[in-house]
Amino acid sequence: MTERLYDNGHIKEFNAKVIACNKADKGYELILDKTAFFPNGGGQLADGGTINGIAVLDVNEKGTDIVHTVEKEFAVGLTVHGAIDWETRFNRMQNHTGEHIVCGVAHRLYGCENTGFHMGTFGITCDLSVLLNEEQIKEIEYEANRAVFENVPVTVFYPDKEELNTIDYRSKLDLTENVRLVRIEGYDLCACCAPHVLNTGEVGLIKILEHYSHRGGTRLLMKCGWDALEDYNEKCRSVAAVSASLCAKQNEIAQAVESLKTEKAKLDYELEAIKLSQLNKYINRLQLSENNVCVFADEADSDGLREIVNKGKELCTAIFAAFSADATGYKYCIGSNSVDLRGFAKEFNSALNGRGGGRPEMIQGSVAAEKEKIIAFLNATEM
Ligand SMILES: [Zn+2]
Repeated sequence: MTERLYDNGHIKEFNAKVIACNKADKGYELILDKTAFFPNGGGQLADGGTINGIAVLDVNEKGTDIVHTVEKEFAVGLTVHGAIDWETRFNRMQNHTGEHIVCGVAHRLYGCENTGFHMGTFGITCDLSVLLNEEQIKEIEYEANRAVFENVPVTVFYPDKEELNTIDYRSKLDLTENVRLVRIEGYDLCACCAPHVLNTGEVGLIKILEHYSHRGGTRLLMKCGWDALEDYNEKCRSVAAVSASLCAKQNEIAQAVESLKTEKAKLDYELEAIKLSQLNKYINRLQLSENNVCVFADEADSDGLREIVNKGKELCTAIFAAFSADATGYKYCIGSNSVDLRGFAKEFNSALNGRGGGRPEMIQGSVAAEKEKIIAFLNATEM
């Protein structure tokens, strides 16, 4: 059985004796008499680091032993020196202990059970069994940060079966033996196997970033400590950039964006009115015609061309075509109530270097040809 040194979350380096070292699919499986390396489990990833300078690739529990996967073989009986990747471990302990505090507070205030927990680069998510509102979540966050400012001790203990029956603690598992309890004085008591900080002050800021309703309860996304500071810095950079861009005070950017949106809606409305009046300039000119008709309306977009053609083909017993200039020639929309335009589209495109098509009564596309050639091909009257 490997002695677990991570009950004290502050042990960063240690000496230990090699008990076994066996060739595995990937490197060697190394077992020591004791270790500070935390193995995968309980929602937290295994510690990284080195043993005698050799990288530890993975750490897993096998029965009562802890197995380190390493690249090099070690002689049984050798005394080795282990060093865990402290920066990553400390970040994880800050987040993990912060999660205990939040869940402990949510349990005390609103009877929430913790139904899920996940740690990743995005932060921590924890699932609570009660659907909480904004105000309740704020209260939990304030109360959790109070636990940090009070800097209370975080202790680990292993009660025996009898003692366990007398203790009220949070747990996701129905274990009755070798239960490891983590107590955060006055805030939480929870069964957990992972390493934690020694005092709540080490957790630093606890920030609940987002919350969603999830399976009838609440899912929280949170960050603690260094990760929370990093997140705060990133958000400050965004706010400063938006504030500078809008020439608005940092605490007034939401209002500034709202007035920008209102202004844009007003301009969109005015633009629509201008487009319509420009189209009407062409539409009002239209007359009854038995010949093919061409309209050149450079202000019109595709929707505008369609609008003109919809009106024009009702007044024209032949083919009615509308064009607007683009970078290489003209966009077109052509309509007719009497001619099937699918066959016509092929001839039109091939004669005028174009592409496009559509339905029997309307086709759309573009041509790379001059105005005079288009009029000549259609043998059309220009209106
Ligand atoms: Zn824990």
